[in-house]
Amino acid sequence: MKDYHTHHPNPAGGSICAVTSEDWPRIADTPGMTPCFGIHPWHAHEVDVAEVAFELDDWLSRYPGADVGETGLDASERYKSTLEQQRLLLHVHLGAAFRHERCVHLHGVRAWAELLHILKERARCNTLPRIHLHAWNGSHEMAREFLALGAIFSVGLRELNHPHAEERYARIPEGRLFPESDDAPADWPRTLALFRLLRGGLIL
Ligand SMILES: [Zn+2]
Repeated sequence: MKDYHTHHPNPAGGSICAVTSEDWPRIADTPGMTPCFGIHPWHAHEVDVAEVAFELDDWLSRYPGADVGETGLDASERYKSTLEQQRLLLHVHLGAAFRHERCVHLHGVRAWAELLHILKERARCNTLPRIHLHAWNGSHEMAREFLALGAIFSVGLRELNHPHAEERYARIPEGRLFPESDDAPADWPRTLALFRLLRGGLIL
């Protein structure tokens, strides 16, 4: 099984996400990996949104096999002061993913409800791209709402080790929940083992 969200090359293959635009040239041609171009919400306040919109459009045109990300919203204590800029940037990513028909990789910290609201609004306007929620740790009730929008999810060691992992993840249908290593490539074998255990060995 491939690594559905990482920032490092993984011999298993998968999606390698940028954190800033400086990563884009580095990840663009990583063998066996799908590059994802984007700006992480942690860096939203450091960029010119119009410039990112222009660059993202250009890179997606040049790399038809690429996806969009990492983007999203982070309302944790450390980043909540930049939420306004994060929202602007999120819409740039969602718009680009929709126009270029790519999947968008979303990060959500204390922000799943707002993300759901934004995505539902896009679905209503028929401008919703394919969506992938990484490090998913919301309730099953909320997962159902994202599933209705066509979302897929990925989880890493931190999520899989959580006491609520079983109730959060066991009922997510096959083909919609996947493993990820995120920023910890050394955790990949354990992540995969735990993921298979949680899924009862159904997904191999
Ligand atoms: Zn990440």
